[in-house]
Amino acid sequence: MQINETQLKQVNTQIGRLIAADNFYGKRLKAAGVEKVETVEDFLKLPFSEKEDLREAYPLGLMTCKEEEVVRIHSSSGTTGKPVIIPYTAKDVDDWGEMFKRCYEYAGITNKDRIQITPGYGLWTAGIGFQNGCEKLGAMAIPMGPGNTPKQLQMMIDMKSTVLCATSSYALLLAEEMEKQGLKDQICLKKGIFGSERWSDKMRQRIHDELGIELYDIYGLTEIYGPGIGINCKYDTGMHYWDDYIYLEIIDPKTGENVPDGEWGEIVITTLVKEGAPLIRFRTHDLSRIIPGECPCGSKHPRLDVISGRSDDMMKIKGVNVFPKQIEEVLALFPELSSEYQIRISHLDGKDSMRIYVEASGSNDFKELQKKIADAVKSKIGFTPIVYVVELGFLPRSEKKSKRVIDERYE
Ligand SMILES: [Zn+2]
Repeated sequence: MQINETQLKQVNTQIGRLIAADNFYGKRLKAAGVEKVETVEDFLKLPFSEKEDLREAYPLGLMTCKEEEVVRIHSSSGTTGKPVIIPYTAKDVDDWGEMFKRCYEYAGITNKDRIQITPGYGLWTAGIGFQNGCEKLGAMAIPMGPGNTPKQLQMMIDMKSTVLCATSSYALLLAEEMEKQGLKDQICLKKGIFGSERWSDKMRQRIHDELGIELYDIYGLTEIYGPGIGINCKYDTGMHYWDDYIYLEIIDPKTGENVPDGEWGEIVITTLVKEGAPLIRFRTHDLSRIIPGECPCGSKHPRLDVISGRSDDMMKIKGVNVFPKQIEEVLALFPELSSEYQIRISHLDGKDSMRIYVEASGSNDFKELQKKIADAVKSKIGFTPIVYVVELGFLPRSEKKSKRVIDERYE
């Protein structure tokens, strides 16, 4: 999906502002002698920006507007190193709300809906993003935030919530709890909007079956507004993303070159109209592809496939490169298994070992099954893991994101 004339003009405005602000990217442009871009080729020569650049700008080095224009900041989690602080102007907040409203509309949600919002409110962009969009749409927000499952279920019943916004992990937890307590008949949910973590087809199927609702994937990241920059429509043929606010490229993560539409690679995003902290060619490390052609819904907004993983989630075990997705693909082949699994990697007696805990969907001969899974994993990645098939509900459930890989070698 080549950058078009309008988008190039918008990038030029951003370039001018970044140079004037003299922040890390402005300096980078100056060093490269770039004052504007005129062609697609010029654009593709612009340097990338990385999360590390953003961290180094802590606390307010990304600010590209006057300080008095900043109405809010958000921050990405600082689990590894310093957090990233993103300043927003009033227009940024408004634009984000418009994008989010569009997401709800693409999911067929209207001002007659009641939207229960369970992602967290605060420094990070989740809860407040869902809230902004909901208010712009004119729907009734039920701003719960995460946790307190009994209260969530009570409100869901009493307020007759029709839409659930959650991480897929929390949606599963809520679905299982409803099933356990026999509350299904009292629930009015029709749609679920889930984001912020990769989820398998199996997990999607379970949530769909247990809650009996339509599922929508929302995409976004704190560095680029937050959730709400894309969502699938009812035809479920990928996530439409808002190319009037962002320009999105797919690159080969090794070479940094653009790949043709339809091919998998790393998502790189340029903000076209952001004021507080515009970003040019930001490497997200999320892996996906642009889906060529047009959606049956007729929307002109291009489509992105599901996020298949991250370019930096590779594990090196026994000298072999392993991606969590590969393990997930093997587990998906066994109908006896449910959606939940955990991979633990440790270093014992001078050797790496990988243990896979996976929940069964019923009661089977686990021993036989364990061996079959171990063999199937070996033929995919080249070494044999230790496999434990456990009962449904054995693994921890999360109100936020599930931790599926635990590397004990570095703890
Ligand atoms: Zn569509």
